Amino acid sequence: MSAPLLQVEGLARTYTLPRESLRRPAPTVQALAGVSFSITAGRSLGIVGESGSGKSTLARLVMALDRPTAGRVLMEGRDLHALPAAELRQARREFQMVFQDPYGSLDPRQTVERIVTEPLTGQAAVSAPERHRRAAEVLDSVGLRRGDLAKYPHEFSGGQRQRIAIARALVTRPRLIVADEPVSALDVSVQAQVLNLMQDLQAQYGLTYMLISHDLAVVHHLCDDVAVLWQGRIVEQGPPGRLFADPQHPYTRALLAAVPQAEPPRAAAP
Ligand code: ADP
Ligand code: MG
Repeated sequence: MSAPLLQVEGLARTYTLPRESLRRPAPTVQALAGVSFSITAGRSLGIVGESGSGKSTLARLVMALDRPTAGRVLMEGRDLHALPAAELRQARREFQMVFQDPYGSLDPRQTVERIVTEPLTGQAAVSAPERHRRAAEVLDSVGLRRGDLAKYPHEFSGGQRQRIAIARALVTRPRLIVADEPVSALDVSVQAQVLNLMQDLQAQYGLTYMLISHDLAVVHHLCDDVAVLWQGRIVEQGPPGRLFADPQHPYTRALLAAVPQAEPPRAAAP
């Protein structure tokens, strides 16, 4: 059994909302409460849950974009939130994020080359020619052309934009990719293409994924293991086949009931 690449221990995050009255304490929301799991290098964990269950909060904490109220995020044994700023910057190359919205997450005023090499900014060791070579290489990996480097985001379809976002995530040669609803904004026919690409890239580069979706079908496609998040807690975890066949928690059953069936329901017996 190899060591986990990512370990999350007792992670919690409470947000304080603006005060409604000076006489009352500020209201709080517990977005995440005592979440623990680990992901072995080269594997993929799916996080599923309805809107508001804490999925994006979890992603931000794992990416060290936000600080936990309690708990730890260990990347290869290093406690991310305890790292000095310089070491965190260094460690950041090891994990990258892909966001849901392929329109909002790409700067419309920048060329594709600028966008995909942005994570290399500040890496003095990567020269300008090397940067250009890497941009061409990652574009190739996601099935786009070198000629696309000089174009702008509006010249691409939604699926192609998400390929650009994935190329940007690959440019630092990360080990872990956290994808928060990466295909939710795409047409169903395009979703499968992007998921297949993610699967191919995983095999090619030995990537580890934390894949977030409200859609069980999406994580079923790509993940070895699935954790069901409900009101900031993991209520069930297991291989997707088991979760589908034999869900234990009522909330998992409710999520499954919401998945459109591949086959039409059988007509009732006369
Ligand atoms: P999901 O991604 O599963 O839809 P989120 O992690 O975005 O869920 O949100 C979980 C809960 O935390 C929600 O109730 C949301 O309103 C609240 N929340 C998230 N971010 C903030 C924030 N920055 N300030 C206050 N409340 C927040
Ligand atoms: Mg979210």
